[in-house]
Amino acid sequence: MPATTMDQLVSLCKRRGFIFQNADIYGGLQGVYDYGPLGVELKNNLKAAWWRAMVYERDDVEGLDSAILTNQKVLHYSGHEDTFSDPMIDCKKCKSRFRADHINGKCPNCGSADLTEPRPFNLMFKTAIGPVDDGYSYGYLRPETAQAIFTQFKNVVDSTSRKLPFGIAQIGKSFRNEITPRNFIFRVREFEQAELEFFIEPGEDEKWHEIWKENRINWWLEQGLKKEHMNIYTTPKEDLAHYAKACYDIEYQFPHGMEELEGIANRTDYDLGNHTKAQEEMNLTSHCHPNSESTQKLCIMNDNNQWVVPFVIEPSMGIDRGVLAVMTEAYTEEDLGEGNSRIVLKLKKHLAPIKVAVIPLKKNNEQIMAKCHEIKQNLLKLGIGRVALENTGNIGKAYRRHDEIGTPLCITVDFETIEQQPESVTIRDRDTMEQHRVNVADLPNYLREYFL
Ligand code: ATP
Repeated sequence: MPATTMDQLVSLCKRRGFIFQNADIYGGLQGVYDYGPLGVELKNNLKAAWWRAMVYERDDVEGLDSAILTNQKVLHYSGHEDTFSDPMIDCKKCKSRFRADHINGKCPNCGSADLTEPRPFNLMFKTAIGPVDDGYSYGYLRPETAQAIFTQFKNVVDSTSRKLPFGIAQIGKSFRNEITPRNFIFRVREFEQAELEFFIEPGEDEKWHEIWKENRINWWLEQGLKKEHMNIYTTPKEDLAHYAKACYDIEYQFPHGMEELEGIANRTDYDLGNHTKAQEEMNLTSHCHPNSESTQKLCIMNDNNQWVVPFVIEPSMGIDRGVLAVMTEAYTEEDLGEGNSRIVLKLKKHLAPIKVAVIPLKKNNEQIMAKCHEIKQNLLKLGIGRVALENTGNIGKAYRRHDEIGTPLCITVDFETIEQQPESVTIRDRDTMEQHRVNVADLPNYLREYFL
C-alpha cells in the first residue's frame, strides 16, 4: 500500500535528507523547498528518465535550455501579462487572501463574511533588470518553460533543418506566486517543469493528441505509478482555456487527493501565432494578440511547399509533483512478523538515489574498509549512478536506512571477503531481503546486468 498521509512522506523526507523546507533556520519561506542529498539524486534521475524517453529515444525531438529571466514582451504577447491570474478574495478582518473558487461566502481562516469582491491577482514574479529601477526596465521569472520554445522556434528549425512533425523539449525552473502554496511540494512557488512542444501539421492535431496521451501514461507506468492510482481527466469544452482545443490531465492519487500531475493540451496555433510577425498573412485559426513587434515569421515549409504555422501538442509535467507521486507510490510499511516492521521505499531501480551501498561488517577494521573502498571505486566505473560507502558499522541499521531510502542492493564486506579466496561478498536485495554470496570478480557483470 502506498503512503496514505502526507506526514509519512514529509517525515521520511526530512529524516533521511530528501527534501527540506527552504530557509528552515529562519522559519522557512512559504511554498519553497530545497532538495537534500538524496532528493537531488531522485529528482535528477526522474529528469534523466524523462529526457531519455522524450529526446534520446526519439528521432523527432530536440532539446533546449533557455533562460529563466524573461523579456517582458514575451509574456506580454504570450497573453500571460493579461490573463495569467487567479481571481482573489481578501478577508477584510484577518487580511488573509484566498482564490475565489476556493471559498464559500466565509473566510476559511477566521470565518468572517466581511470579504472583498474577487480581484485578479497576477501569478508572475516581476523583477527589475539592470542597474536602474525606473519602473520600465523589468522582466519576469518565467511562469512556464514553454514560451522560450516558441520564441526560439525559428532558431531551432534553422539550425537543425527539422520538418514537421517534430518537437522541442525542455526541463527547467518555473515560478508562480501561488496564493496558497500547500500540500508539501505539490503546489509551490518555485518548481521545475518538463515540457515538450510537439509541432504538427494543422489537421493532424487530434491524432497526435491521442498518441501523446498514451505515450505519457505509459511513461508514468514505467516510473512505477500504478494504473489504478491514476485517472485521465478530460477538460469539458466549457472549461477549456480559450486557446486550447482539448486538454487531458493525467491525475494521480496523491495523499491529499486525486490531482493533476501532468497536462497534455492541444494548443493549436495560438502560441506561435501570438509571437509571429505578419500575423495577417498566416491563416491563423486562433484568436491571437495583435503583434507589431516580433521580427520573425514563425512558420515552416510543409511537404506541399506551403508555409504553415504548425499546431502544437504540449505534454507538460511538474518534476516536483512527479517526485511526490513516485515517492507516494513507493512508500511501503511492511509487517515482518514478531512485532517487527520496516519502511521500504520500493522505487524503480533507475530512480533510486543510491544504486548500491557498500557496507563494512566492521567499520574499524582497516582491511575490510580498504576492500570496501576498492569495491566502491570499481563499481563507480560502471556508470550505474551513485554507489555509496556506508560506514556506520552497524549492519542492521545500515540495512534499515537503505530500505527507507530505496537502495536496491546492499553489498556487505565481511571477514570471509578478506580471508578466503576467491574473494566474495554478500548481496542483499531491498524488496525480498534475500541475501546471497557473489564473487568480487563477478560484481561488475552482476550489476551491469541488474541495472543497465
Ligand atoms: P494547477 O491547476 O494545479 O494550478 P496548472 O493547470 O496551472 O496546474 P500548468 O500550467 O498546466 O498547471 O503546468 C503544467 C504542470 O506544471 C502541472 O501539471 C504541474 O505538474 C506543474 N505545476 C504547475 N503549477 C505548479 C506549482 N505551483 N507547483 C508545482 N507544480 C506545478
